[in-house]
Amino acid sequence: TATLGVLGGGQLGRMFVHAAQALGYRCIVLDPDAISPAGAVAEQHIQAGYLDSLGLARLARDCDAITTEFENVPAVALQTLAGMRVVAPAAASVAVCQDRAVEKAHFEAAGVPCAPHAVITSDVELAAVNPALLPGILKTSRMGYDGKGQVRVRTVAELATAWSDLKRVPCVLEQLLPLKAELSVLVARGADGQLVNYPVQQNLHRDGILAVTEVPAPDVPADVAAQAVAAARQVAQALNYVGVLCVEFFWLDDGRLVVNEMAPRPHNSGHWTMNGANVSQFELQVRALAGLPLPMPRQHSASVMLNLLGDLWFPPAGGPTTPAWSQVLALPGTHLHLYGKSEARPGRKMGHLNITAETPEAAHAVALQAAALLGLPGDF
Ligand code: ATP
Ligand code: MG
Ligand code: MG
Repeated sequence: TATLGVLGGGQLGRMFVHAAQALGYRCIVLDPDAISPAGAVAEQHIQAGYLDSLGLARLARDCDAITTEFENVPAVALQTLAGMRVVAPAAASVAVCQDRAVEKAHFEAAGVPCAPHAVITSDVELAAVNPALLPGILKTSRMGYDGKGQVRVRTVAELATAWSDLKRVPCVLEQLLPLKAELSVLVARGADGQLVNYPVQQNLHRDGILAVTEVPAPDVPADVAAQAVAAARQVAQALNYVGVLCVEFFWLDDGRLVVNEMAPRPHNSGHWTMNGANVSQFELQVRALAGLPLPMPRQHSASVMLNLLGDLWFPPAGGPTTPAWSQVLALPGTHLHLYGKSEARPGRKMGHLNITAETPEAAHAVALQAAALLGLPGDF
């Protein structure tokens, strides 16, 4: 049997491992933690840092092909492995996604519009910022996720304060845009250039963290959906990307579509594909890595995904300390996925609930019932 390697031991790695094992592959996970969601289900776990050359050498020795589940894995680690084994996505692609300034330049080069922005790496650039970008969001160029490393600023003075609060690391100031909705599109591309995509996904964020994904996107007309799909394919093509890529969009009040950012891996907003499509985003990642054919995914069920954050394990006084799984699973078309994390923390991604139905209305109605049982907001 062939062996696939994964850098990173989080839930995305775990679901990748499950998909790989179903196709008959062995998996080795490299992660610095002794216990991790993916390390716990892989055939082998190498406990090592991402820059540990001995750990990387062992991974390369024992794997036929290697991927990453962790967006911020040092690109140099992928570069090192690529000298020895098939690696997808490539270090160069991941490097683009890891730096907002570089990423935005890529979008522009690919002819896909993104939010008006300015790069801030020096006092000179700070002073030169066009005030028309305010109010805006100052985002660290690197390492941010789930809205971390972001500060909303209204004035030039607030911008200066925010940049010192962010320790004056390289940042991007983005104009705060009026959003009608947030969308994302997942594509998968093979080393041979074969390119497939899922339908557009509509995402609701709460406090900067994905909360709900609905597919089909309830509010999105066909022309906007087609525009998003074409843009995501274009972005992947322009990167010569190999693997699963998620492109996030803002759909603006004035009807324009702009790209927000991308993730070089399966994405939280694609978790519905595990139950609502004939091939999951994790299987496509396995296929792309292993050089297997990439079928054009077909959505067979209307789907809603509810993210299950650690907050559910900390209910208001008097509430049950274990979420009401058996009541939720009594609802039609509910599919529970828990990541096996040992400890719940507020805001931590512990699992997700997929709801599938014949019609979007039915999926939505069951999702609202499930949300009510779990004590989640019914604001979708
Ligand atoms: P992720 O976990 O998706 O990687 P992230 O930390 O990289 O998140 P972004 O996607 O840049 O963060 O922003 C998080 C959320 O903040 C967005 O989904 C959106 O709701 C809001 N947001 C970000 N930028 C803007 C903007 N320019 N205008 C309006 N809202 C924005
Ligand atoms: Mg991000
Ligand atoms: Mg995002």
